[in-house]
Amino acid sequence: MAGLNDYAPITGREQIENIRRLGRSLRGVGIQHINSAAVGGGVAEILKRLVPLMMDVGLDPRWDVLQGTEDFFMVTKTFHNAFHGLPVQLHEKMFETYREVSRQNHHLVDDGADFVVLHDQQPLGLAEIREGHPGRWIWYCHIDPVDVDRRVWEFLRVYAARCDGVVYHLNEYVKDLGNRVYVMPPAIDPLSEKNREVPEDERRSVLERLGVPGDLPLVVQVSRFDRLKDPLGVIRSFRMVREKVPCRLVLAGGGAGDDPEGARVLAEVRREANNDPDIFVLELPPTADLEINVLQRSAAVIVQKSVREGFGLTVTEGLWKGRPVVATPVGGIRTQVLSGQTGLAAEGDRAVAEAVIRLLQNPDWAAGLGRAGREHVRRNFILPVYLKRWLELLLAERSK
Ligand code: UDP
Repeated sequence: MAGLNDYAPITGREQIENIRRLGRSLRGVGIQHINSAAVGGGVAEILKRLVPLMMDVGLDPRWDVLQGTEDFFMVTKTFHNAFHGLPVQLHEKMFETYREVSRQNHHLVDDGADFVVLHDQQPLGLAEIREGHPGRWIWYCHIDPVDVDRRVWEFLRVYAARCDGVVYHLNEYVKDLGNRVYVMPPAIDPLSEKNREVPEDERRSVLERLGVPGDLPLVVQVSRFDRLKDPLGVIRSFRMVREKVPCRLVLAGGGAGDDPEGARVLAEVRREANNDPDIFVLELPPTADLEINVLQRSAAVIVQKSVREGFGLTVTEGLWKGRPVVATPVGGIRTQVLSGQTGLAAEGDRAVAEAVIRLLQNPDWAAGLGRAGREHVRRNFILPVYLKRWLELLLAERSK
């Protein structure tokens, strides 16, 4: 597994030295991360890499996973939906289940940790025992809380307010709880299978295996099949583009098998595509990191036509590969796609189509946007930068 030094060719030696220097000021500091899943989901993905890198720079990190019951995870799934502003049915019993399972997990908390970090709302109930614990407690809200259901927030905010600090992905997600606030966007790992460089012959053979011809420019959107990613809108935009520039569309995503909603959306997408030979709808398994990497690298234009987006890691991945990106300016996409500089922002079927056409017709300009997009990600949204932000946060918190 890659260590911090392996990132030097990407970040430069100096950045690695800066990170190591920060690490030295935190040598031996115990930091316990607690989340609710060892695998699957963005948080586990990040912790899997962040924890070893924290160790690499001299901290004493550990990562524990909350033990929930089926009932508990039903409750936290409902809370999750409530964060996204979906209408939810709530009963007192659900809050009771949450409290109970949180209490059953009190023993997880490391009594000697200098920092306890609770990732997302599932382990937040542990903050009940914050008082009497010698360390600093941080709640990391990895999702967009703007439209959270009032009743769910009233319940959870009590726990969040007990923490010393709260971390959000974006400024606009900050809630006033009276504690210290930190803003830290997520990051991608440039050395992972999903983002590593791919030699040209390997890229071609993976594309061929996926059955996608490489003789015309590809417009690509990688996303779960979810209405909030507007895949039907992508098809409508693509049809407008194709009238002007010969090209093909790839819509790739997974998770449809075990998500009834995803399966429905996938069926709608197939219906809308209507066996069009220029539209490739690919259902990918969760292990398809290299395939996603190759599809993103092979795109003439990457589209992310989301209706809403927490941060939008597929955009980060696309920009990192130096591809020109057209995306709706929602959520975290706005900090990534600086329109006209690191990509193009466009809203609505027609505007998206026009932006894609401009890029396809002006490949030099498109390549320039792609280069600037990659540089923007390199400076802001890759793992070593994320680690550096973490160390700065811990130092700031410790000095309070
Ligand atoms: N992803 C994946 N397989 C898929 C679809 C998406 O591995 O079939 C990955 C994608 O590459 C990205 C993440 O899942 O790393 C999606 O994160 P994003 O923030 O774009 O959207 P979310 O799915 O969290 O709404």
